[in-house]
Amino acid sequence: MRIDLASAPGHQERPNEDWVSAAIPASGGGVLVVLDGVTPPGGDDGCVHGVPWFAARLGGRLTELSGSRRDMPLDQVLAESVRATAEAHRDTCDLSHVRTPQATVVVVRWDAQYVEHLVLSDSVLLLEAPGGEVTAVLDDRLDRIPREVLGSVAATDALRNAEGGFFTAAADPAVAARAVTGRTPRGRVRAVAALTDGASRWTDTFGEGDWTQCLAVLRKEGAQGLIDRVRAVESDPARPAARYKRHDDASAVYAEL
Ligand SMILES: [Zn+2]
Repeated sequence: MRIDLASAPGHQERPNEDWVSAAIPASGGGVLVVLDGVTPPGGDDGCVHGVPWFAARLGGRLTELSGSRRDMPLDQVLAESVRATAEAHRDTCDLSHVRTPQATVVVVRWDAQYVEHLVLSDSVLLLEAPGGEVTAVLDDRLDRIPREVLGSVAATDALRNAEGGFFTAAADPAVAARAVTGRTPRGRVRAVAALTDGASRWTDTFGEGDWTQCLAVLRKEGAQGLIDRVRAVESDPARPAARYKRHDDASAVYAEL
């Protein structure tokens, strides 16, 4: 087994709100958790702790429960982790605030029999079969909303964790039912990768290569290698379209099972 991960802030002066972990439980198999903390525009979020605190709490709980409760399906793991994280600041913070700290989620868990996955919001999961074909698992709800709508803070807030909008892990455990979940026989998966949108933009925004090529970069150059390539495109004066996209926190984890 080989696991390689990297995470880089979008701006040196701001904290990285991505959160990444890999665990190899004593019981065998493995767990990957990748969160992208959502920074809503407009400042106030009703929370005294901030998004990095929230992502660390939620990510820690997801990692622990995924590894210790193999009997618990990943959507239940997510529901319980959201509930426990909400409890940790219910007394101090306004959890009903529409911009309460929230995060996109990818969880992958494998054992000798299955590779299970859960994807919520716009982080990307890649599954590679032994023959080399790559399947991208996406929750495309955010992509279905027109870009011009997402340019408005009020319109985006109205769609945040609302029917017909997009869903992130915030303070309501019921969001777990919205996650894209599945499992694949272990023998049909050779490698997995999870990317926050700051890293997946190498493929889905900049079109530097398809998902198969993205996985090949991760294998050959590592997670940091992919992030370095994203940063190079973002600062390339010959790619003005890329330059207008601000740097974002970027994280990638790659595991050969
Ligand atoms: Zn709080």
